[in-house]
Amino acid sequence: MAAMFVRESPLLGAVGHVPLVEITAIRALAPACRLFATVEGLNPGGSIKDRPVARMLLKAMQAGHLDGGRRLLDSSSGNAGISYALFGAALGVPVTLVVPGNASRERLDRIRASGAELILTDPLEGYDFAIGEARRLSREHPDRYWYCDQYSNPENWRAHYETTGVALLRGITSTTGRPPDAFVAGIGTGGTLTGVGRRLKEAHPETRIIAAIPDVFPGIEGLKPLGQAGDLVPAILDERLIDRRVPVRMEDAIPMCHLLARTGLFVGPSSGALVHAACRVALEDGLRCIATVLPDTGERYVSTGLWSGHDGR
Ligand code: PMP
Repeated sequence: MAAMFVRESPLLGAVGHVPLVEITAIRALAPACRLFATVEGLNPGGSIKDRPVARMLLKAMQAGHLDGGRRLLDSSSGNAGISYALFGAALGVPVTLVVPGNASRERLDRIRASGAELILTDPLEGYDFAIGEARRLSREHPDRYWYCDQYSNPENWRAHYETTGVALLRGITSTTGRPPDAFVAGIGTGGTLTGVGRRLKEAHPETRIIAAIPDVFPGIEGLKPLGQAGDLVPAILDERLIDRRVPVRMEDAIPMCHLLARTGLFVGPSSGALVHAACRVALEDGLRCIATVLPDTGERYVSTGLWSGHDGR
């Protein structure tokens, strides 16, 4: 089948053009370490998921998977769903998302506003059930749906290998004269950790890759505690890259978010978790320079009460 003509979209062209900043909030906590991060909330869809979703969508169009009005189908707990809905609308691709019914109102409304079809699953069944439901639908209706499968799609980690990893490596090396000692990432699909991890270790094999593992799920949007019985390990996650796993408690991640907000970085709880984990490894492992990402905007968590009662004093 002839590949569909992919219309250029200036909106997709904006993906990944986000600043790399030095996180000054940690100076008092880990004075010997410099921490750098990309501000992914400034992507057009408000999160790091814009990078893999834009790439997966364009590759699927180029391969002809979405020809003849076939719908792009995936499961998402939030940020990826917003990116799929946004870019699907921009490119004229119909999108169907399987989302647990307890996703926040602001997320569901935003996805619906972009014209995507939503299939809500029973929140009591958990997120893995939504993944299974997307898989079942694509099996039963192969003519209607093309299953993008962000947990297994190699274009997910490749997006981070080609963009996020390069931005961190180039930006930090040109600022400090050296590559970072370590990269700290969370794990949702494992795309960020695998793509950036491969890029950094290929350039400098001694770079340490640290996985921050939150204590509760879905307390930190998009991040999943690994290693629990019955958990699905994402197919694209390359666990051999991981040098250390650092558990993070929500009660530490949230004050870190408030601290970041007071330095001009209005970001979500997974950013607080990653910066907290970076501080810990900086102190315990004596690291001098660490890279991480601030995965999404704090705007997305207003309705959760994350910011209530914090006036910066
Ligand atoms: N943080 C947030 C806020 C996310 O939405 C996600 C992805 N769902 C991640 C971190 C983890 O990214 P990845 O899927 O690349 O492992």
